[in-house]
Amino acid sequence: MPAAPGYNRAYMKTPTSGRPWRPSSLIVAAWVVHPGALAAWLVWPDSWPWGLAALVACHIALTGAGLWPRSRLLGPNLTRLPAAAAERGEVALTIDDGPEPSVTPAVLDLLDRYAARASFFCIGERAAAHPALIAEIVRRGHTVENHSHGHRHHFSLFGPARIRRDLEQAQRVIAGLAGSAPHFFRAPAGLRNPFLEPVLAHLGLHLASWTRRGFDTREGDPDKVLTRLTRDLAAGDILLLHDGHGARSPNGRPVILDVLPVLLDSLRAAGLHSVTLRQALQ
Ligand SMILES: [Zn+2]
Repeated sequence: MPAAPGYNRAYMKTPTSGRPWRPSSLIVAAWVVHPGALAAWLVWPDSWPWGLAALVACHIALTGAGLWPRSRLLGPNLTRLPAAAAERGEVALTIDDGPEPSVTPAVLDLLDRYAARASFFCIGERAAAHPALIAEIVRRGHTVENHSHGHRHHFSLFGPARIRRDLEQAQRVIAGLAGSAPHFFRAPAGLRNPFLEPVLAHLGLHLASWTRRGFDTREGDPDKVLTRLTRDLAAGDILLLHDGHGARSPNGRPVILDVLPVLLDSLRAAGLHSVTLRQALQ
């Protein structure tokens, strides 16, 4: 999928500087519908059912866009690498919900074995609890990105102030431990609301979701996870796995440890190599 004009340049801005927020078409439409419905009701009181219907439709659209992790209706959302990265044969492995002491070190060893690089979307609270693991992720050539501080299940119900507090806290913790502030943010479970994008812009962060995910927090069968990740596998894909909160294989091991070697073999056989999101967007 070709990148939008100016897309790559926007992603390369330093994460500490902030960036302008440009409301999406859906947000602009929501701004128009609310006062419009009120004005119509004041001028033509009998029109209230139409105004109410417009407001309900608007809120259904906003909620639906937030519940669809790969949607761009609420703002920019990286779901594939830019064309230049795809031409270089790059894919991006992204690994969420760590660091997890019982899993992350083995994941790092597997990535080393294949000279693969990954973006770790870490939870701020977990990073603070396991600082040595964050340092080790960076030492091995990977990057640490922001996956919220608390990873609360109701994150998509947070208001703007709470979203900002949560993201700032994770930025601070991760920047202090990793030596550089995250460039990318991924919402817990990919669920969000219209308040998120202005906060991301303020913090200089960019929303990143994925091309495909293995649902490895629920699925313990490595073959099924692999099938989901490698269906239509192509250069430019962003793939999602978990080192934290992951399901267990029938043999009791975290499923990512059974999936990664086969996945990395598949990438190699296809002439693809895994890089960090930051490398892909350089
Ligand atoms: Zn998560």
